[in-house]
Amino acid sequence: MIESVEPRIAGAIRSELADQRDSLKLIASENYASPAVLLTMGNWLSDKYAEGTIGHRFYAGCQNVDTVESVAAEHARELFGAEYAYVQPHSGIDANLVAFWSILANRVETPALAEHGVKSVYDLSEDDWEVLRKKFGEQRAVGMSLDAGGHLTHGFRPNISGKMFHQRSYGTDPETELLDYDEVARVVREFKPLVLIAGYSAYPRRINFAKMAEIAHENGAVLMVDMAHFAGLVAGKVFTGDEDPVPHADIVTTTTHKSLRGPRGGMVLATEEFAADVDRGCPMVLGGPLGHVMAAKAVALAEARRPEFRTYAQHIADNAHALADGFLKRGAKLVTGGTDNHLVLLDTTAYGLTGRQAESALLDSGIVTNRNSVPNDPNGAWYTSGVRLGTPALTSRGLGIDDFDRVAELIVGVLSQTEATPTRSGAPGKAKYSIAPGVAEATHKAAEELLGNHPLYPGLEL
Ligand code: PLP
Repeated sequence: MIESVEPRIAGAIRSELADQRDSLKLIASENYASPAVLLTMGNWLSDKYAEGTIGHRFYAGCQNVDTVESVAAEHARELFGAEYAYVQPHSGIDANLVAFWSILANRVETPALAEHGVKSVYDLSEDDWEVLRKKFGEQRAVGMSLDAGGHLTHGFRPNISGKMFHQRSYGTDPETELLDYDEVARVVREFKPLVLIAGYSAYPRRINFAKMAEIAHENGAVLMVDMAHFAGLVAGKVFTGDEDPVPHADIVTTTTHKSLRGPRGGMVLATEEFAADVDRGCPMVLGGPLGHVMAAKAVALAEARRPEFRTYAQHIADNAHALADGFLKRGAKLVTGGTDNHLVLLDTTAYGLTGRQAESALLDSGIVTNRNSVPNDPNGAWYTSGVRLGTPALTSRGLGIDDFDRVAELIVGVLSQTEATPTRSGAPGKAKYSIAPGVAEATHKAAEELLGNHPLYPGLEL
């Protein structure tokens, strides 16, 4: 059907499936959603407008979207043990925006309105509204630095969060490269932020959220945890106790498409205190909810509540361990010396390569990764000095610890036979490279053999 309307799009879809089937997908933020999740996204709930909240919409006829949103929220609350779940955010960035504005509403706007004896910003005088707007702009946030593994949305300048908040960041210990809680406490004590943000995109270790909560709350800050990357490990009970953010944080945000293996989207979990503020996400900062995607979130969350998902989550962590061990025994250098979550950060300078050269050489060899900064990266955020590798996607295909050892062998094989092309002055170049003859082809073949044992969507002929 798509073919007859726009064959180029049908072709791109088929080609994407072929690419995903044939390459070793090690991008830590990607996964393979189940056919049930994928199919749930292609339906007529997409055609319905439903701004507002469950049972309180700005449009008529939203009863089916109400059902979908309630079921998704119920699964989210039950799965994560959260007091409140808001499943409307269209992405992780949107979820973080909802969280930030909820915190600002709860901790800045509401007290300001109480001071003026009014309930709504509409009832403030123009002058008082200007004072309140200025107060919003004076707020502070503290998050993990980008090169230690933090995310752009945690108060950094290229993202709106860096324009909303005055920002300071905490890094990792220069020796161990591990999160330094004393340093977090020092920054928070000195800077006194409204929000302490915990969570990461590229930190290969677990976080003690009980400690982070103590630091935040002792200093009057709200603890917001962005678990976008490791939500699947929380859902699958690999991260429990102090490593589970939900019992400790005031607000938890996540994507639904990474280790959680759902549709592309976001979600906010909150304590009762923030529930009403979070519920204002649409239309505060979000466009109308995507009924078809919320339906797919409900299906993915239902899948994540099954016992098999716990096994899957444990395999993600076991496989990451095997991948790290596979690298270490072949002499590779890993940030923090290993992993205890779903990702590994490989320092490519040990092979004389930038992250960009390594990423490209691996792609030529059928291995999909992404370049990433390492702490205090000498090559900056564009070229970088590392590649980030994650296990959620290939674990979904059924690869196990022996397979991941083989993946490490293949990667080390490519990188140790790749050379940076010098610039005209003879200095090491940052972008161009050459792979020894035959290596890329042989690795491609080996990758296909490995994947041949674990077909993707085996019943689907396309
Ligand atoms: N938060 C973290 C920690 C992330 O790693 C990412 C994406 O990489 C996001 C938020 C943003 O998610 P999205 O791309 O869905 O907006």
